[in-house]
Amino acid sequence: MRIWAIVPAAGIGHRYGSAIPKQYLSLCGTPVLLHSIKRLLEIKEVEQIFVPLGSDDTLWKNLEFSHPKVKTIAGGCNRSQSVLNALEGLSSLAKEEDWVLVHDAVRPCVTEFDIKKIIREVRNDDVGGLLAYQVVDTIKELDDSDGVIKTIDREKLWFALTPQMFRYELIKKALRAAVLSDQPVTDEASAIEFLGLSPKIIPGEKSNIKITSAEDLLLAELIIMSWSRK
Ligand code: C5P
Repeated sequence: MRIWAIVPAAGIGHRYGSAIPKQYLSLCGTPVLLHSIKRLLEIKEVEQIFVPLGSDDTLWKNLEFSHPKVKTIAGGCNRSQSVLNALEGLSSLAKEEDWVLVHDAVRPCVTEFDIKKIIREVRNDDVGGLLAYQVVDTIKELDDSDGVIKTIDREKLWFALTPQMFRYELIKKALRAAVLSDQPVTDEASAIEFLGLSPKIIPGEKSNIKITSAEDLLLAELIIMSWSRK
């Protein structure tokens, strides 16, 4: 059974508000996206890494990065469509039972330890799973006028991270179903849940942050700088 990876990088990052999509911003001198790709390249078992890019992406070629395991592919109008395009691109290579690791381009602080952990803990699972960490803050639900209406029990709440790991045929079927029914899915696990299946939670490091603001980029710099001090 082989492991393939997909790093969706076709977002325009409108929440970040910079002229350059956030996956191309410099983090300790290297674009965010290359940090994420390099973490996956550290995992010898990963056969190939597919990187969906936006149709008007002009920045990838400026990176002057190439690696025999890394292949770009056209992304889609949302994250699920981008991942689906990569899965279709894998169709002549991947077998039904192969595993697919999907990792956000904008999570450059994932560790080799956590990637190996999800592979180890999920590879014998029937469904697959995702890295996540438990909510420690008190969570409030608001009404339409932004007033607090209740406090949610946090005991069973977890923040979903990536990588998420599912079998090739299952994740393709799940994402196709979600896209066809216009189901809003912001990660692969929600598409799997939509099929009525229950992905496994693998506790991961909180430092595996997603870059969505300038503040996150600063934090990512501190996290990466702290690695070299170890
Ligand atoms: O927008 P969000 O932060 O949820 O994006 C998560 C990941 O999905 C990012 O790495 C982004 O580049 C990717 N994405 C994509 N295709 C889209 C939208 C987002 O590959 N159309």
